[in-house]
Amino acid sequence: MGDTAFAESPRRPGMVVFDLDYTLWQFYADCVSAPFVVQEKGDFPVIKSVDGQRLKPFPDSVKILKKLKEEGYLIGVASRSPTPSVAWKAIDAFEWRKFFDHSVITPGCKRHHIKELSKESGVSPKEMIFFDDEHRNIRDLEDVVGVCCLVDGVSFEEVRKGFRKFAALNS
Ligand SMILES: [Mg+2]
Repeated sequence: MGDTAFAESPRRPGMVVFDLDYTLWQFYADCVSAPFVVQEKGDFPVIKSVDGQRLKPFPDSVKILKKLKEEGYLIGVASRSPTPSVAWKAIDAFEWRKFFDHSVITPGCKRHHIKELSKESGVSPKEMIFFDDEHRNIRDLEDVVGVCCLVDGVSFEEVRKGFRKFAALNS
């Protein structure tokens, strides 16, 4: 646990891809209203919606994104949010644009998202680790993406587990 490096294996994933709703943050972007007011910054940020809801990432989210960036990984977002503009406003309120190298936020099957991320980045889907809280998205991608991880919100433990799986598959 804590902040040690993600991969002990020399075989590094080409991109680490995250869903947003209930994977990186604890709300549905289509159930909240922008604009957001920033209440707390830093590793445990809080933003407030216009109707007064306090919205947060999962406790490890910011530290995971920072650590992945520090270690030089590409970070992708694959979200099927029906309200991309609200999702982007939340990303900006959390100041997360600096973490995301490639983002596809649009409704539809996530096979499309992964294809777009791959086209933009040149990283093969088999070189990706993907995290999502919904079984249907994992099911849509498990034959396409290198490692798919069903999570109840990201945590260091889950991300490490994904990296270990990737290393085992590619050793
Ligand atoms: Mg989700």
